[in-house]
Amino acid sequence: VIEIRNLHKSYGDLEVLKGVDITAHRGDVVSMIGSSGSGKSTLLRCANLLEDSQQGDILFKGEPLRWKGEGLHRRPADPKQVLRIRTNLSMVFQQFNLWAHMTILQNVMEAPVTVLGRDRAEVEGAARKYLTKVGIGDKCDAYPAQLSGGQQQRAAIARALCMEPEALLFDEPTSALDPELEQEVVKVIKDLAREGRTMIIVTHDMKMAHDVSSHVVFLHQGRIEEEGTPDVLFGAPKSERLQGFLKSTT
Ligand code: ATP
Ligand code: MG
Repeated sequence: VIEIRNLHKSYGDLEVLKGVDITAHRGDVVSMIGSSGSGKSTLLRCANLLEDSQQGDILFKGEPLRWKGEGLHRRPADPKQVLRIRTNLSMVFQQFNLWAHMTILQNVMEAPVTVLGRDRAEVEGAARKYLTKVGIGDKCDAYPAQLSGGQQQRAAIARALCMEPEALLFDEPTSALDPELEQEVVKVIKDLAREGRTMIIVTHDMKMAHDVSSHVVFLHQGRIEEEGTPDVLFGAPKSERLQGFLKSTT
């Protein structure tokens, strides 16, 4: 579904991504781990075109994103293509970013109605279905402030699902939550993995990464230091940096 090849990204003089390749085929769950500042969030933001990158290719369903200009002047060439890719890669952030003045149902319905122009009644049905799926079907009329952190994050996941995306991108979806609430969200992500949803998940939760992933990538200073299946990567890490990183997280 999404393929990133040799991606380079700098902020001014700081090169944050130094040639990264990541592929998520349909049904893959790819987890990205690595220390703070290694470029995990930047990579997700480049993948769904919230950030520009200076070199490398981004392919969505085999179709390469078209650019105009080069290097620091490189920008996506076609706004329609950008919109298509972005709406098909729904992002779930660490901070849930729900609109405080809208009910949970309105939050979930907003983008499909206004961005995709879908029929309001149909979207409402889908929104209620997804809210029920993540276990908060009874919270449709509540406002975000009336929900626990775990419930808010589950609402954010329902909102991402309601876009009917090809893939979901998660950036540390559980790290703002207390441990008990974290598990509610992990359960939802596990259910989605079991359903065969395509996902790229940045996480500090090694247990979840081990349990849900088909492939794990360890990023170090903007490069992939090591990658593989979760059993191999966590069970028999080769690089010393990865061994050190895994020790530091337990
Ligand atoms: P964390 O685990 O702390 O979330 P991360 O792996 O997600 O870390 P990034 O947020 O991708 O790391 O940041 C990678 C590097 O890019 C860091 O050195 C950071 O300071 C820098 N950086 C990120 N965003 C910007 C920005 N908007 N402007 C300048 N530098 C940035
Ligand atoms: Mg980050």
